[in-house]
Amino acid sequence: MTDLSKEARGLLSQKAYISRLTEVKRQCSIDGTEKFLFALEDGHRIESVLIPEEDRLTLCISTQVGCGMGCTFCLTGKSGLVRNLRSSEIINQVLTIQRSLTEGTRLTNIVIMGMGEPLANYNNTMKAIEILTHPLGPAIGARRITLSTSGLVPLIKRLGNSGLNINLAISLNASTDEQRNQIMPINKKYPLAKLLDSCREYPLKRNRMLSFEYVLLDGINNSPEDARRVARLLKGIRCKINLIPFNEFPGSAYKRPSEESVLAFQEILASHHYSVFIRKSRGADILAACGQLREE
Ligand code: SF4
Repeated sequence: MTDLSKEARGLLSQKAYISRLTEVKRQCSIDGTEKFLFALEDGHRIESVLIPEEDRLTLCISTQVGCGMGCTFCLTGKSGLVRNLRSSEIINQVLTIQRSLTEGTRLTNIVIMGMGEPLANYNNTMKAIEILTHPLGPAIGARRITLSTSGLVPLIKRLGNSGLNINLAISLNASTDEQRNQIMPINKKYPLAKLLDSCREYPLKRNRMLSFEYVLLDGINNSPEDARRVARLLKGIRCKINLIPFNEFPGSAYKRPSEESVLAFQEILASHHYSVFIRKSRGADILAACGQLREE
């Protein structure tokens, strides 16, 4: 930057540096989903997933290297937490991928659902969202950003009071504490009643709703009784429900349920007047689908 004085350049190099991600691998699924493997400056690796749909182009980004939450159905959780990402490393996933798109193509939605529990890296994730939504930055609308959490109750409250009007998704995945304790260890600390109370108290803006994600594991949490219990649990919460038939990965202990049982689960929730969507699995052939991300 020779257009700046030597003094100013000296000051800048003391105070700031330009961070970047190195693209290690880019894999394309038969359904058009693309998985990016990035190397960080310290050599650790993270993944981001680009999901093109008819009317939107969504990017799923990571907030941690690995994850410490230990959900038993998730490949990312198997490696444990390595470290939090810095806010620049979170933002750079968006900027690097936006730059790689063909001219005139823009990301329309960001989902913070990749590797890691975003609320466990609260400060860096919030700073990244502030910058991504800032009018002088990428200026992505807060309504187009969704953060997903496994249920860190005190931080859900903090997010609600933060004034960042992003969308919140809760990874529910069970209809009883017993079940949830088994597949999501965080439930032992923040059981369903506490989690759902924090959802009931969450300060939702008008016309906005919470999302509940529910990974369907065959024979574990996908019975008609489970669906009826979920309907009771979510009573009084303005929400929609996304059902995610489990995406199997090599060595996974769980099975993907049959299509009929997924439809039956949806039917029961719909009969209780919930908006229920079955998430199409994207990029499963390249291990880019929900719960399949890891450092390679
Ligand atoms: S599902 Fe999310 S919170 Fe749970 S282990 Fe995987 S990345 Fe972590």
